[in-house]
Amino acid sequence: MDFNTFSLHPQINAGISKAGYTSPTPIQKQTIPVILNGKDVLGLAQTGTGKTAAFVLPILQRLMKGPRGKLRALILAPTRELTEQTHAAITQLGRQTGLRSLTVYGGVSAQPQIRGLRNGVDIVVACPGRLLDLLGQKVIDLRDIQVLVLDEADQMFDMGFLPSIRRIIAALPRKRQTLLFSATMPKEIRSLATEMLHDPITVEISISQPLKSIRHAMYMVEQTGKREMLLNLLDNSGSGQVLVFTRTKHRAKKLAYQLSKAGKSTTALQGNMSQNQRQAAMEKFRKGRVKVLVATDIAARGIDVSKVSHVINYDLPNTAEAYTHRTGRTGRMDRLGTALSLVTPEDLKMVRTIENNMGCTLERRRMEGFEVELNPANRPAPVKNRISRPKSNYRKTTPSNQRKTSNNRQRSYAKSR
Ligand code: AMP
Repeated sequence: MDFNTFSLHPQINAGISKAGYTSPTPIQKQTIPVILNGKDVLGLAQTGTGKTAAFVLPILQRLMKGPRGKLRALILAPTRELTEQTHAAITQLGRQTGLRSLTVYGGVSAQPQIRGLRNGVDIVVACPGRLLDLLGQKVIDLRDIQVLVLDEADQMFDMGFLPSIRRIIAALPRKRQTLLFSATMPKEIRSLATEMLHDPITVEISISQPLKSIRHAMYMVEQTGKREMLLNLLDNSGSGQVLVFTRTKHRAKKLAYQLSKAGKSTTALQGNMSQNQRQAAMEKFRKGRVKVLVATDIAARGIDVSKVSHVINYDLPNTAEAYTHRTGRTGRMDRLGTALSLVTPEDLKMVRTIENNMGCTLERRRMEGFEVELNPANRPAPVKNRISRPKSNYRKTTPSNQRKTSNNRQRSYAKSR
């Protein structure tokens, strides 16, 4: 199957060829015809599957007809990075169409965005907070919106955007096409979908399943041994780029500094940096000028760098969904990738949650010189396909202690990204 099957406008096909796409990905095959038919879509798909083009191409097709410079499509996304990336995809695929898109997000001056809106655009890709501000100032008019996309809806929900999204939707015409994409389907997203979508077609591309192109493995390590282990892993990571995730902004900053001091070409990407600093860091990594990017979850949303050969969880994430998002940054578009997790004894419960969610196990690897003490409650459950098992001694702690630690960690995690 090739893109001609969709009978898209020649100017759009020119953009597809220029982007180097030869055949549609599974989500594009399933979704593009449905969107072209004007149906609402509930898309369950991870990043790295080609979902952006799956909605961008039919939107471009729809907007080819009708008045130019009038805002007719709105894409809501959780982070600035993702809005920029989607905008870049629109610019690339729509380069010959003359359709214009604009990004709208906070943390930067609103003036250029307001000027852009006044000059007339066809598509806005926005984070909900700034969009609501502009709506309040009456500098954006949503009355002609024909298509609404909610991208990475689960992440927008996690970030507390649901009330803002509801207010934005209230300003849109009732008659419109709505497309909702999410990597996971927590019950809140399901009820939002029921509320917002009209008779939707559900398209599901391996929900929460690991991408087949990613190899997942873990190393047991004590908290104090993590940095040394990471340096060893980086020494053996080959020529590809490495994305390292930490739990907090502070840890990302500190670790990036320590890695640089140890001679690794590294930069950080975390929420305390200004938008300009974040963009500069992303640009350095995207262009391959640094090998390692140390990031927090929120800052890393939307990172699309095809040369990422390894994702390393320096700290395990707090949810299985976040694990899917993080690791989906490697193995993109069928390139092979490796996802490694540094796991402390306290993390083993989360490992089991991740494994249950993925429906498979993380390969157990062991690094010489890194011994770990395990207590009985944390002893790993028997798993199939285990390659190697960490050497274990057993230490006693009470289950209530462990629960407390894990709850505290969850609370502080939400604040610190
Ligand atoms: P996404 O899942 O939308 O973040 O896309 C992941 C990556 O796949 C991006 O770098 C896209 O440019 C690329 N991509 C999307 N569709 C195709 C396709 N049909 N053929 C090759 N690459 C694609």
